[in-house]
Amino acid sequence: MVMADTEKRLIIAIDGPSGAGKSTVTRLLAQRLGYLNIDTGAMYRALALFVQRAGVPLTDDEALARVCSGVTIAFERNNGGYRIIAKGEDVSAAIRTPEISRLTSKLSARRVVRDILTRLQREMGRGGGVVLEGRDIGTVVFPDADVKFFLTASPEERGRRRYLELQAKGEDISLERTIAEVVARDEQDANRELAPLVRAADAIDIDSTGRSIEEVLACMEGMVWEKLKAVNSE
Ligand code: C5P
Repeated sequence: MVMADTEKRLIIAIDGPSGAGKSTVTRLLAQRLGYLNIDTGAMYRALALFVQRAGVPLTDDEALARVCSGVTIAFERNNGGYRIIAKGEDVSAAIRTPEISRLTSKLSARRVVRDILTRLQREMGRGGGVVLEGRDIGTVVFPDADVKFFLTASPEERGRRRYLELQAKGEDISLERTIAEVVARDEQDANRELAPLVRAADAIDIDSTGRSIEEVLACMEGMVWEKLKAVNSE
């Protein structure tokens, strides 16, 4: 359902905790609309990887700014998905380890880092025709986004999904520990001072617990389609 060139192209925000299904539905929704998929979590993860390699302490704002502003980030389409290229390197796999997840959650609480990525995300999305997924898209990055979703699922289900993903990659981690890590990361993301994980007042709540990707996607797609019809008939 790709619209004609003259149609207004929307900015769609999908926020929510980890493991709620954001990445999958964002990718599929973007594909169906012919929009760009912007995984802002991957952007924070890419910076965490380079900060880790540089051995910079998270309290050293000057060094964080130097390292992070030197990291170029691009999304390259690849077999229906995408690769994350940071500083010319394909970091898609390296940014998905439990260690980088933990570091990312700490690093993303730093103002200097958020300022760099918020600016970059606004530049990438400002022309519309984008689906952005993250924690603060509908509240901070694009508070005027055309459609905002807040996607959640129970902690057990989110932990189980993350566990299956990690298991498929050969990571040696238990289900209990994965659930505990997911919950700990959400608490850290929700309780930080800057751009915390919080539902935007005008976001549409979607609970994916016990629902298939197709079901969730159909529901979101219907709402986006309504919005497209409304804005293009204005
Ligand atoms: O979405 P994902 O789990 O890959 O995000 C990794 C981490 O990046 C989150 O736990 C959060 O700390 C941070 N993040 C953020 N703001 C965003 C996206 C992700 O702070 N918009």
